[in-house]
Amino acid sequence: MRVPKVGVIGAGQLARMMIGPAADLGVNIEVFAASSDDSAALISAFMVGDFKKIEDLMTFAEGCDVVTFEHELVPQSLIHDMESRGVCVYPSGDSFLYSQDKLAMREKIAQLGLLNPLYEKYEGGSTGLKFPLVAKVPRGGYDGRGVWIISDQAQLSELPTPLLLEEKLNFTREISVMVARSRSGETKTWSPTWTEQCDGICKITVTPVPDFSDDLAEEVSRIAIKIADGVGLVGVMAVELFHIDDRFVVNELALRPHNSGHWTIEGAVTSQFEQHLRAILDLPLGDTKRISDWAVMGNILGGSQPEIFAQYEHMMARSPRLKFHHYRKEIKEGRKIGHVLLLGWDCDFHRLVDEVEFAQNYLSGGPHG
Ligand code: ADP
Repeated sequence: MRVPKVGVIGAGQLARMMIGPAADLGVNIEVFAASSDDSAALISAFMVGDFKKIEDLMTFAEGCDVVTFEHELVPQSLIHDMESRGVCVYPSGDSFLYSQDKLAMREKIAQLGLLNPLYEKYEGGSTGLKFPLVAKVPRGGYDGRGVWIISDQAQLSELPTPLLLEEKLNFTREISVMVARSRSGETKTWSPTWTEQCDGICKITVTPVPDFSDDLAEEVSRIAIKIADGVGLVGVMAVELFHIDDRFVVNELALRPHNSGHWTIEGAVTSQFEQHLRAILDLPLGDTKRISDWAVMGNILGGSQPEIFAQYEHMMARSPRLKFHHYRKEIKEGRKIGHVLLLGWDCDFHRLVDEVEFAQNYLSGGPHG
């Protein structure tokens, strides 16, 4: 039997973190990069191309048994075009739509009988929703870019349309559940994660969610599996939820490995990256059990330090349990350039958060640390 080849469209840190598991599994992998110095292209076979050109996508897909994505930017029409030309794409274009288009996602969540915020498609004029509200570009936003808190009609009128408008929720906290679903329909979830955002960007995650009962964990796991089955997921998906009292309102879906699942690299028996490969190759899914009481992940955002590596010596001596992930991306203010992870047993998770925050600050040099 021939060893399969996976093609990943996109060559950022998510593709980069898929390279290790692919090597471990002995699976061939190639990434579709915008440039030869993209994060994943530095450590993998790659092709440089334009993901908005079908010829480039088809050249890349040739020889790949499965093509998958690490970002949402490939136009729907081109994904369908690849599929109609016989390329095996997972998640499929029909499923991936819910990762690409927040309006389509809201409609799907309503259809599945799950909770949305009050929402409306806005194309200009006045809105039926009360201010303040949250306005979002339906496609292409990330890390809080393309999301605005709007307090009156004048502000709303200044934004480009169409928009997804949502009521502004007062949530207790934001949580994320990672779920995997294979081509055969096998599903597995990991422990839910508390995600702490700052200016629309995830700063720290804590897994499991503190003060969360087993019943609540089961409830959100059921929600994630219902969505995975409902959208026909193949691969892994993050289901971002707002926790309000004891209700869970869906915020967003990402049908790919996700920042909120980075803790699984060291913190679970099977990481989200390995699981994604298993799911799209139709292999049995791996165990998702946590291996520690706590897993705390902190994103390193670009700050005043010119290079993360220069800070390793002190940080490694100070925190021998800390795990480092350097994406080798050009440092730009506020950009995710790496992350750190700390596992803990029999301890107060606040201590782990303090240690991770110190590392964030020291490695990036602030002001985001
Ligand atoms: P992105 O695609 O940038 O991740 P999100 O839709 O997740 O955008 O929104 C970014 C952040 O904005 C969320 O993590 C949350 O903190 C806040 N937010 C989004 N929607 C709402 C809402 N309806 N009510 C209150 N806050 C919201």
